[in-house]
Amino acid sequence: MSVLLICSACQDPHTLIRLPVSRECSRCGAQYPQSAYELAVQTLCAEAVPRPLLLTLGMGFCAFWSVLAAIITVTTLVSDGGSYEINGQPVSREEFLREPIVLLFPLAILYTGAVSWALYREQPWTRPLMLAAWLTYVLVMGFAGWPGTTERVVGVVLAIFPLGIASWYLYGKPNVVAYYERLAAQVVARIA
Ligand SMILES: [Zn+2]
Repeated sequence: MSVLLICSACQDPHTLIRLPVSRECSRCGAQYPQSAYELAVQTLCAEAVPRPLLLTLGMGFCAFWSVLAAIITVTTLVSDGGSYEINGQPVSREEFLREPIVLLFPLAILYTGAVSWALYREQPWTRPLMLAAWLTYVLVMGFAGWPGTTERVVGVVLAIFPLGIASWYLYGKPNVVAYYERLAAQVVARIA
């Protein structure tokens, strides 16, 4: 795809296929309007460094999961005939809803919804937001997981692996780093 800039002074069309974008018309020297210039730069930047595939898949997965989980949660809350269990023990609906772990469901729905929305809007802070999930996983394994010390250590060690892979992917993989550099540059351009 390319960007077409038409000079408002001499009506000369300029087809641009890559950066840099000139600030003025090469025919008559008139300045392009700032908004048109910025739009052309942003469009060409977005094409040069598109959203990495895994992030696009994550965006779709998070959106799907949060909607599905919200539907299941609401259905469970309004249906009377459901059966509820905590650690394998059948409990009443009231007892089930008093358990702190039930709070995790709305939190997880909000979190995955936020990740999906922020990835879609190309927010530069999606990196720490996503990494927080893997960090939480390590903490859960260490503090809220199994009762035995050995199991906890094993759990933490196993949870550190996905955290390491996610850190490398988000902060080390060249195309992902380039993508986030573009998002940061766009924020700077918007503020400036
Ligand atoms: Zn011109």
